Amino acid sequence: MEEKILTKRALALIGVCDEFYDLYFSIDSILEKSYKDLKNHSHSGCVSLSQIEKYSKPQIRMLLNNFMNKYTHLFTNDFDKLHPNSKAINSLKLLEANKVGALTLEYKMVSFDAFLHEFEEFIVQIIVQRKRYDDVTVNYHSVKREILKHFTLIVNSCFDNIRVTESHKKINFEELIIFKNLSATTCNRNHHQVNSDIVIVPLLNLNEFVRLPVHKCDTCGKKFIGNETLHVYEEVFGKMIISVRKDVVSDDRYTRFTRESELHKTGYNVVEGNMSQSERRTLLIKLLEMEILTTFQICRDIENAIRIFKGEERYERAVEKWRSDLFFISEYVKENLQ
Ligand SMILES: [Zn+2]
Repeated sequence: MEEKILTKRALALIGVCDEFYDLYFSIDSILEKSYKDLKNHSHSGCVSLSQIEKYSKPQIRMLLNNFMNKYTHLFTNDFDKLHPNSKAINSLKLLEANKVGALTLEYKMVSFDAFLHEFEEFIVQIIVQRKRYDDVTVNYHSVKREILKHFTLIVNSCFDNIRVTESHKKINFEELIIFKNLSATTCNRNHHQVNSDIVIVPLLNLNEFVRLPVHKCDTCGKKFIGNETLHVYEEVFGKMIISVRKDVVSDDRYTRFTRESELHKTGYNVVEGNMSQSERRTLLIKLLEMEILTTFQICRDIENAIRIFKGEERYERAVEKWRSDLFFISEYVKENLQ
């Protein structure tokens, strides 16, 4: 089996996973809208796969063209820009059929991982064809190997620069807003200028920091991070000490706590199976030592949580953990910081 070039992990380490996810999401929206339009205009209500592909093709082609022009450097140094050709576009398999009922088929877009695989083949094909203009003997597999080599070099050099070991006692601790897809963030919808940025964040279990690729709004200063990127970084580097909140507030019972608690935003939580006692305590100590939160803020947030949830059987275990952490932190402060 040949090695995959485009993976979520590699893209996140380069700092472009959110952009690729957004491309995926935009294509999904185009396909969904095409499907709906065709369905509304068809007498029978039946729409075939090739009809959707044909209908959506011009828009998808334009989107891919802009995207590829921006990211050609990730795949090759031989060309400044690459343009999608019909053959490559036609070979993209972006939809899968779902049988609902005996005769009806519904279509939906393939998964993000499957999309990355399709996109990778698409890029290889375009580069092969482009190279064949100059040399008809160009071979698919050798081009693919070249692209893999080029891409891997970029990933490795980015990876080497992600970890920061020197101590940043006073780090810039800012709140990050988590999004699922970039163009649906409040700032992008309001046409604010959003650019790529980097924040340095401490790791929970190591005395190291990582450079986290985020997006910064020039208009209102908010910083965002994509869900996919965040997952990859936690998988590769372990838990990070960051303050995050979702772009959309969920209805969870815990949100009453979430909305007011600075502590909860740093990832501190007592939900079963989420953080061990020692992880929670390492986090609390680091928050204090790095002067991210004060003893007062930590104690206030935990006491608030206890006040809200005590007396309910469901939260008995959580309240117990909060009480013991509260005791731990007061002892720690007495011994170390006073
Ligand atoms: Zn904004």
